Amino acid sequence: MILENIADEFRKSLQTQGCLSIKQRKQKLESLKIKIQSSQSEINKALKLDLGKSEFETYTTEIGFILEEISYTLKHLEYWASVKKVKTPIALFPGKSFIHAEPYGVVLIISPWNYPFQLCLSPFIGAIASGNKVVLKPSEFAPHTAKLINELISSVFSDSEVCVVEGGLAETQTLLKQKFDYIFFTGSTAVGKIIMKSAAEYLTPVTLELGGKSPCLIEESANIDLAAKRIVWGKFLNAGQTCVAPDFVLVPEHLQEELIQRMKYYLNLFYTEDTKDCADYSRIINHRHFDRLSDLLNELHVAIGGDLNRDENFISPTVLRDVQWSDKIMEDEIFGPLLPILTYTKLEEALKNILKYPKPLAFYLFSENTAKQQSIISQIPFGGGCINDTVVHLANPNLPFGGVGTSGIGSYHGQKSFDTFSHYKSIYHQSSVVDLPLRYPPYNEKKLNWIKLFLR
Ligand code: NAD
Repeated sequence: MILENIADEFRKSLQTQGCLSIKQRKQKLESLKIKIQSSQSEINKALKLDLGKSEFETYTTEIGFILEEISYTLKHLEYWASVKKVKTPIALFPGKSFIHAEPYGVVLIISPWNYPFQLCLSPFIGAIASGNKVVLKPSEFAPHTAKLINELISSVFSDSEVCVVEGGLAETQTLLKQKFDYIFFTGSTAVGKIIMKSAAEYLTPVTLELGGKSPCLIEESANIDLAAKRIVWGKFLNAGQTCVAPDFVLVPEHLQEELIQRMKYYLNLFYTEDTKDCADYSRIINHRHFDRLSDLLNELHVAIGGDLNRDENFISPTVLRDVQWSDKIMEDEIFGPLLPILTYTKLEEALKNILKYPKPLAFYLFSENTAKQQSIISQIPFGGGCINDTVVHLANPNLPFGGVGTSGIGSYHGQKSFDTFSHYKSIYHQSSVVDLPLRYPPYNEKKLNWIKLFLR
């Protein structure tokens, strides 16, 4: 298909052939699942080449995540897609009311490089489950994974159902000039604005899964040992290149040293003292991001790590102590293995400082005090998060995943993915036998009094 008018071509085929039936969608998703299961070694290889990702992380955060999402969708799709009868008010007697889920039509999915398999296929599953034609644009910065996704999908879906576009800026711009019925974008806030501007041209609805600085707040009552363990796990997973990674940690001043010591202990336990030789630790995606991250380290107090190797795009898990709000590292999302620790003496001060930033994608709170947990969670607006853990909230398909404000618009995962890619069409089905005269002119006081009885 020609890239310049791919959206129109897909729309034409949708009008002539219609969308896939629920049964066909399930068969396609089942085939995709089988194909992924039998291609695990190729997927491992691609992610090793793109990000130096370990087989364990590739399974837990990419392959396993997608298999589970497909299984969950297969289990529930029939119900999600069924016509739902809803109540009808007495004033509309004797009709009945129904909601039909229909696919938007032709959707464009644009994804980033950091979880290049999962972040491409997770929305894709929702788009297919809802019956859409899909144009999928993986990130050019994870080229091995992009190529493999193209091969996997082409072996299951026909050219008239899905098109995977491998390419960079030029190809994405060509796509964005066209009228899609929905655009689902995952990436930076800056590019999110470009996507929304392009979508506005056709009033195309969007989901924007963006980023930002996700704070991690340790409250006085927290279990410091457990906090240290779960924070370094969530932060240094995929070498910190995770949209929901804790961006920075806030800890009561008198607990900073203990926290750092426990973080050091767990980092040695997880990745050994010589992290560069540890197969479980990922690499920075490219030199551009390596240089950006190295620059952030200047003039900061390194408490743990700080080892750099540009040839291998390696940055060791690095914890920074006594970081100030005015330091450069506190300006933008870090998106790498650098973890600034800031201290506070009064909780209110810490909350006030967090609120100075745009609403984050994630927020993490470590606290053993139930009243404080509830009060803090209700004071900070954020996309989603955890109490006494990091990152794992996105693994529950019953929790919609997405940002708010500059960290995103809309959400997905589980049923929310089906909802995202569906238009809910409302239908009132009136009786042709009974026709109450109340609403028709000529109006009179008697009719009005009846209406007033119903509409109060
Ligand atoms: P990015 O915004 O640079 O790129 C994302 C996608 O947009 C890529 O496919 C790229 O080809 C395309 N793109 C880049 N520049 C473009 C332009 N000018 N016009 C049109 N398309 C363009 O993001 P990235 O570097 O790939 O990923 C990192 C960012 O993504 C971080 O901010 C991170 O927080 C965010 N992210 C968010 C989530 C989430 O679920 N909310 C998940 C992963 C990453």
